Amino acid sequence: MSTNLSSATPEPGTLDGEHQEEPSPIARGNQVDLPRLERAVRELLFAVGEDPDREGLRETPARVARMYAELFSGLHDEPREHLKKFFTEKYDEVVLVRDISFNSMCEHHLLPFMGKTHIGYIPNGRVIGLSKLARVVESVSRRPQVQERMTEEIANLLVRELDAKGVAVVVEATHTCMTIRGVRKPGSLCVTSAMKGTFRSNLSSRAEIMQLIYHDQR
Ligand SMILES: [Zn+2]
Repeated sequence: MSTNLSSATPEPGTLDGEHQEEPSPIARGNQVDLPRLERAVRELLFAVGEDPDREGLRETPARVARMYAELFSGLHDEPREHLKKFFTEKYDEVVLVRDISFNSMCEHHLLPFMGKTHIGYIPNGRVIGLSKLARVVESVSRRPQVQERMTEEIANLLVRELDAKGVAVVVEATHTCMTIRGVRKPGSLCVTSAMKGTFRSNLSSRAEIMQLIYHDQR
């Protein structure tokens, strides 16, 4: 996953000689470049026809910069690290954590999408602390993201790091890029799922996990 936040900036060597827009060392070095973010937000305000220097907006670029740093903090986190500390346990039935809430940012519009993730797996000797699953969701969602990829990434991480016999990940989310702009369909819910191992090959296991996820829920 790229950690360079500067891909949308203009080519270096602009005529006005203001500042050369090369990838900043900070952005390259795994940190968020707050001053650069502030400049970008100020520029955005100019571009939409606002006056960033009017009283109400004066603090906005700095505030938005800090907010973006928070919303994209997953870019500087390695989700695999949260799965390194597992327990060795002879448990080989389904483990399911339902309703892990998340907020992410659609990478096509930079608008939030939010919802719940359900993660089920059948251990193969390795059991992970439940809070670690929430950490993985946090790490994967706090970056420019696409729901389908996020679902797949979480499932693949569990397959790789836990060597689980089966992994089922279901993500349900509302996308503000669908509700406040474009087709404007509030209330629509996007559901994606990734089934691996037993949950992919065995229909009754898949039915069982879906039943567990949706049982009593609505
Ligand atoms: Zn979108």
